[in-house]
Amino acid sequence: VAILSIKKYPEAVLKAVAKPIDEITPSLISLANDMLETMYAAPGVGLAAPQVGYSIRLAVIDTRYRDDFGRVEPEKLTDLEREVTFPLKLFNPVILKKDGKVSFDEGCLSVPGYVEPVKRFEYVEFEAYGPDEKKISISTDGLLAICIQHEIDHLNGKLFLDHLSHIKRSMIKSKIKKNGFDDNEREGRSHAL
Ligand SMILES: [Zn+2]
Repeated sequence: VAILSIKKYPEAVLKAVAKPIDEITPSLISLANDMLETMYAAPGVGLAAPQVGYSIRLAVIDTRYRDDFGRVEPEKLTDLEREVTFPLKLFNPVILKKDGKVSFDEGCLSVPGYVEPVKRFEYVEFEAYGPDEKKISISTDGLLAICIQHEIDHLNGKLFLDHLSHIKRSMIKSKIKKNGFDDNEREGRSHAL
């Protein structure tokens, strides 16, 4: 496995609508494994293929809360999240059902150092194919529900910035233009998606 370099706003690949995957090849499976390693190393809890330069509909997720030593804290998961087998490697994920409203302070590995509250659906049902080409169906709330919405946004060329008010978005964008990103900035990364 290899650590991949993470594309940052405003790279063009982050704005493109990613292509569906029509065959889960060994090279795509190894890309998914590299993406997981890259996500854990960041650290983050979700990563979509466009964030590492591939405009295809693939995302990896592991939203299990961890303590300062990286140990999983299962008691912080919701009942629905506890039924999920992590990590998830999701090929062609789609949301089938969504309900409720929640606001969560989101960060993104492609916009490091910025964390803003984003309104999302609280509950989602989604489907995807796993590396074994079997269909995965998940009903969830909690951080996993937030994360899958954030990752599918990436596959549609959207960033969490696009959910903010016009004023807030232009403030952040001009700040990034002026200062760029601090590569050592780790603030908010433990929840970065
Ligand atoms: Zn992101």
